[in-house]
Amino acid sequence: MPDPYKTAIDPRRITLLSGCPEKAGTVVYWMSRDQRVQSNWALLFARHKAAMLKQPLVVVFTLSPSFLGASPAHYRFMLKGLQETETGLVKRNIPFFLLFGDPAEVLPGFLGEMNAGVMVTDYSPMKISRQWKAGVSQRISIPLYEVDAHNIVPCRTASQKQEYAARTFRPKITALLGEFLKPFPEPSAMPSATPCMPANWPRAFDTAKTGSACIPPGWPEPGEKAAGACLASFLSKRLRIYGEKRNDPNADAISHLSPYLHFGHISAQECALRALEADAPDISKKAFFEELVIRRELSDNYCQYNEQYDSFDGIPAWAKESLEKHARDPREHLYGEETFAEARTHDRLWNAAQRELLETGKIHGYMRMYWAKKILEWSASPEKAFDTAVALNDRYALDGRDPNGYTGVAWSIGGVHDRPWFERPVFGKIRYMNAAGCARKFDAESYIRRYGS
Ligand SMILES: Cc1cc2nc3c(=O)[nH]c(=O)nc-3n(C[C@H](O)[C@H](O)[C@H](O)COP(=O)(O)OP(=O)(O)OC[C@H]3O[C@@H](n4cnc5c(N)ncnc54)[C@H](O)[C@@H]3O)c2cc1C
Repeated sequence: MPDPYKTAIDPRRITLLSGCPEKAGTVVYWMSRDQRVQSNWALLFARHKAAMLKQPLVVVFTLSPSFLGASPAHYRFMLKGLQETETGLVKRNIPFFLLFGDPAEVLPGFLGEMNAGVMVTDYSPMKISRQWKAGVSQRISIPLYEVDAHNIVPCRTASQKQEYAARTFRPKITALLGEFLKPFPEPSAMPSATPCMPANWPRAFDTAKTGSACIPPGWPEPGEKAAGACLASFLSKRLRIYGEKRNDPNADAISHLSPYLHFGHISAQECALRALEADAPDISKKAFFEELVIRRELSDNYCQYNEQYDSFDGIPAWAKESLEKHARDPREHLYGEETFAEARTHDRLWNAAQRELLETGKIHGYMRMYWAKKILEWSASPEKAFDTAVALNDRYALDGRDPNGYTGVAWSIGGVHDRPWFERPVFGKIRYMNAAGCARKFDAESYIRRYGS
């Protein structure tokens, strides 16, 4: 039977991380960032390998008890999504395994038990993921293929260096988009079922200490189905006003897709393809592409090529110099991490943004910039401000612990992908924002009333 995936999967998506020779044996997809069945290039590549080698295919997920400050509720969201993934895979005769602990410790034994011949994983530029993969590669004797299933244009293909700004990255992505923005084939079922025990979900919820933590009422539903419904509602109701109203936190004009994109419950490529077909003005589609494709993939570029993406040390020299020059400027207000966390500053607008984060698991994109810039203004030093913004975003945001979060903080506080502006106290040459500016753009009082108590 001809292999339906071969021509669909662009080889530029695939990087060989461990070059041991292939062996006859089970194909294992170590799922990590892209937790879904549909529109997943890593799963499709693993399916292709299984068809070519005439071997069984299994999927495995390794659960670590902690992940960059993720809360028990974040874990619950992820685990519920993974339960849906298991159902989707088993329906296709692909067993799903859940392992507990450090991947480098637990995967080699699992590969032995499975008599594995090839391993495939998905791509992430995050340091923790790279460390996991390096540790696993050292301990296995089969090839490990990494497939970029998150970006439309694979990160390493889009650019081989850290880009200065969206203006330098945009032409590179635009030139390659036609080659990569193509429909996905269906992940077809394996010809026969491989017997396997269901994943130990009680132990998983226990490991993540979810206890009685439930998904807060203001959060979206997890999983691939809910992600699809979120996309459908955005395309039919909100995309048409996205071009005009996306910067107004009171107008429900944005997609709310970021938690789903973060956990890989939906593919950005699928979102982009569906947006192209939607009945909406070009100005809206263009604005959505700018965020979903250019800005999102620029964040992966920043984390891929800047080892210090999650720290003040990673920001450009002009910004560092300017912020250091103003590090001792008197601050009108000074707060520590917990005062920020509890939304107890003097500023009602800022507190409303923090409460939006606590209630809904994210802040509207426009207010997110204000939120981070005020942390810079009211912290003892720019380094402290950077760490506070990252810590709060990682601790509370459902879409946090993501390249977009680190790059968003680095943009707001550290001038990354931005340019020097007029010099002023505390901010130096970093772009400034204030409450009066917000009030000119949208009805700030209405936003405060919404998240005011
Ligand atoms: C300080 C700060 C922190 C941020 N933290 C995060 C975070 O933790 N996780 C996260 O996904 N995004 C983060 N962003 C980027 C952006 O604010 C969110 O992606 C967006 O608000 C999510 O809402 P949405 O899905 O409705 O966005 P939409 O406006 O509907 O955009 C669609 C998609 O495009 C991407 N996108 C939108 N804006 C940006 C941007 N500025 N940079 C990169 N990608 C973008 C996201 O994947 C988003 O889901 C942060 C921005 C700032 C300034």
